[in-house]
Amino acid sequence: MFSWLGSDDRRRKDPEVFQTVSEGLKKLYKTKLLPLEEHYRFHEFHSPALEDADFDNKPMVLLVGQYSTGKTTFISYFSSHWKMETRINLRKKKKKSSIKPQFGGDHFKYMYLLEQDFPGMRIGPEPTTDSFIAVMHGQVEGIIPGNALVVDPKKPFRKLNAFGNAFLNRFVCAQLPNAVLESISVIDTPGILSGEKQRISRGYDFAAVLEWFAERVDRIILLFDAHKLDISDEFSEVIKALKNHEDKMRVVLNKADQIETQQLMRVYGALMWSLGKIVNTPEVIRVYIGSFWSHPLLIPDNRKLFEAEEQDLFRDIQSLPRNAALRKLNDLIKRARLAKVHAYIISSLKKEMPSVFGKDNKKKELVNNLAEIYGRIEREHQISPGDFPNLKRMQDQLQAQDFSKFQPLKSKLLEVVDDMLAHDIAQLMVLVRQEETQRPVQMVKGGAFEGTLHGPFGHGYGEGAGEGIDDAEWVVARDKPMYDEIFYTLSPVDGKITGANAKKEMVRSKLPNSVLGKIWKLADIDKDGMLDDEEFALANHLIKVKLEGHELPNELPAHLLPPSKRKVAE
Ligand code: MG
Ligand code: CA
Repeated sequence: MFSWLGSDDRRRKDPEVFQTVSEGLKKLYKTKLLPLEEHYRFHEFHSPALEDADFDNKPMVLLVGQYSTGKTTFISYFSSHWKMETRINLRKKKKKSSIKPQFGGDHFKYMYLLEQDFPGMRIGPEPTTDSFIAVMHGQVEGIIPGNALVVDPKKPFRKLNAFGNAFLNRFVCAQLPNAVLESISVIDTPGILSGEKQRISRGYDFAAVLEWFAERVDRIILLFDAHKLDISDEFSEVIKALKNHEDKMRVVLNKADQIETQQLMRVYGALMWSLGKIVNTPEVIRVYIGSFWSHPLLIPDNRKLFEAEEQDLFRDIQSLPRNAALRKLNDLIKRARLAKVHAYIISSLKKEMPSVFGKDNKKKELVNNLAEIYGRIEREHQISPGDFPNLKRMQDQLQAQDFSKFQPLKSKLLEVVDDMLAHDIAQLMVLVRQEETQRPVQMVKGGAFEGTLHGPFGHGYGEGAGEGIDDAEWVVARDKPMYDEIFYTLSPVDGKITGANAKKEMVRSKLPNSVLGKIWKLADIDKDGMLDDEEFALANHLIKVKLEGHELPNELPAHLLPPSKRKVAE
């Protein structure tokens, strides 16, 4: 157990005590966030209420890409490939596992399965998916249609009902016995074509469905074709709609073996440039370059690079089960922030409405001036502009609403959510860490998987982390919960905050840049230009040391090294 995280003497007198993270999340959601959401009709605007299945389900990976970027082949490829790695791992560990790697759901069977049950699905030379397919574990192979999925309380899809029959006819669950699917589920999606025609013929709001999934999955993999990198308007729109989930995004530049190295570098540059126009922070989104299917490389020049990239991507995906609780915690924080902003918006509109005359005109005026209202809330409550819902969409949604049913500001509801963000979440963080250390490691280690890990919050995975290290020794741990609270307000992505965001906080100490630069050098232990929660706590600790009049060391003394990084640094 990580006792050094548990020794928070600033803890309130009556903290919520939870046995498991999942139980804690459910209870916090129902008792603290849901009342705020209901009061301000959050579900009609942004996202339906969460259900138990949303907190209990396996980690999910969502594959998104244009037509023929290799999404479907990617699934079958990585499931069969992963099984192989699992087998190697089991052999290396010389451990007999009760879960034997299974080879039932390989590439051909997977394709066969769909072909068989969905004639017409395979059009043209490449397999084409025109449905959302949730690929999940099941003892018996089979297909469950969308209409049945939305009434199954054990599956996390019930709220997809709202997207209507046109969507449900294009949504299925493919169940099959498969070792990979015992730990994760994968959502395959229809390929995105360019052109308006497709949008109309779909008959449902494609971007909205993707957003729904994005909110609930653990990883979003955007696939691009290096061989023909054209990003359609619709695909750009789709990526923009996922902007709140950049932390979950990974990019795969697929089919990179089909072009020469020089051309590949140009394509990579073009991809980053295009992404820069679509997402806020393309530089922090990891791009994996390779050829993600089981065919031989067309141009083998970059084989080594592709292999390394593939390993990184696999490592990232394999870390998902372990990080699932943290992901759910993060998403609850995101949701709570949006629910707060939403409450401010709705109550502001309510305040402006006349009680008797001229309601319709005032409503029009308010909708047209929504940008100003956003601005006012932003200033009054110091909310970052990025936390606001999309203006245009909010305006459209407001048109259909009866403003007289809106509720005025009820501070009590907001205080409860603030309290949840400030205290309960920190409590759950402790539990997340405990569960991580108590559970057997769920990811493949050893052999090809040695080396630096890139997964989010991956710093705890180093070989030997937690073995024979006295965690209680780290003096920074005592104050870490306090620093964590600040850390989570600094927009961490993958558990790390950018240098710019860290600087904003660090300059508040009023220490000169020369000193802060030195502190930075000591605190950014892995030298990746970002701070994770431990590095951030360390930075704050060093600031405190300096402010108390002590000299800073030139090199970080061993006792200040966070436990998770000790072995790695040796
Ligand atoms: Mg496909
Ligand atoms: Ca760092």
